[in-house]
Amino acid sequence: MEKYDVVIVGSGIGGLCCGSILALSGKKVLICEAHTQPGGVAHSFKRKGYTFESGPSLWSGIGKWPTTNPLGQILKLLDEEVELFQYKSWQVIIPEGNFNLDVGEEPFKQTIKTLRGEKSVKEWEAFISGIKPLSQIINEIPLLSFSPESINFLDLINLTSKFLPNINQIPKINKGFGNLVNNHLEDPFLRNWVDLLSFLISGMSMHDTNTAAMATLFNEWFEPNSYLEYPKGGSESIVKALINGFKKKWRKINSFFESKDN
Ligand SMILES: Cc1cc2nc3c(=O)[nH]c(=O)nc-3n(C[C@H](O)[C@H](O)[C@H](O)COP(=O)(O)OP(=O)(O)OC[C@H]3O[C@@H](n4cnc5c(N)ncnc54)[C@H](O)[C@@H]3O)c2cc1C
Repeated sequence: MEKYDVVIVGSGIGGLCCGSILALSGKKVLICEAHTQPGGVAHSFKRKGYTFESGPSLWSGIGKWPTTNPLGQILKLLDEEVELFQYKSWQVIIPEGNFNLDVGEEPFKQTIKTLRGEKSVKEWEAFISGIKPLSQIINEIPLLSFSPESINFLDLINLTSKFLPNINQIPKINKGFGNLVNNHLEDPFLRNWVDLLSFLISGMSMHDTNTAAMATLFNEWFEPNSYLEYPKGGSESIVKALINGFKKKWRKINSFFESKDN
């Protein structure tokens, strides 16, 4: 019987990323999957000739380098490129109106001003100021910084000194994003907007959505010249790239992936 250093249960994006990092560091990894296809919530299905996405649809920070997006960092490490469409705006149809919204801080502030007035713009600005230190911490902690095998004392001091000014913010990162919203936002439109973004990024409400994920999203969206991405072929293409990268780094994996090749 084969022996493995690590067995990962589930070939969602989380399991595939985790398996890839371990394979990159030379570990013998087995990824098990209960479903008939890999990808977890990031998969698609066909009905009447149309392909539907079951999970993620908002992507950003994958096709550029450097990137703070953890998935973008892993794809780069695996030497995998995914063909991406870029877009800058989306059509929004909500009870407050029907409008075309560009990604970025200024266009959204303009929208708030038109729909809700100056007071709500100030509320939003205070909210964004609350997120910025969290985004900064995430920016300063690249994904592989904490690999116990690669980090040395100097790296550790260097890293710590970067996020020391915001150290009191660290406990907020793992909490639900709703806490931060409750502290800053009263306007129902703004609260609903953040709840919508939280749902789009996690499939859950703002209270159940991880603050780190939202801080990364705001960080990417509010960069000057920011844009959104969509993988050609849908989220399946990201999953295929992760599997491909994983297989390149470590070929002895679960027969599921091998039998798919045959
Ligand atoms: C509706 C929705 C929309 C989303 N939109 C976005 C978005 O736009 N942008 C974005 O960045 N993120 C989005 N997300 C979040 C993102 O898709 C998820 O966070 C991510 O895909 C979760 O990956 P995961 O590996 O943690 O879990 P999952 O994808 O849930 O994977 C878990 C895997 O484990 C398998 N499994 C479970 N139990 C067992 C077992 N006992 N044995 C073997 N296998 C098992 C499951 O079959 C599954 O394949 C969205 C999520 C949802 C639900």
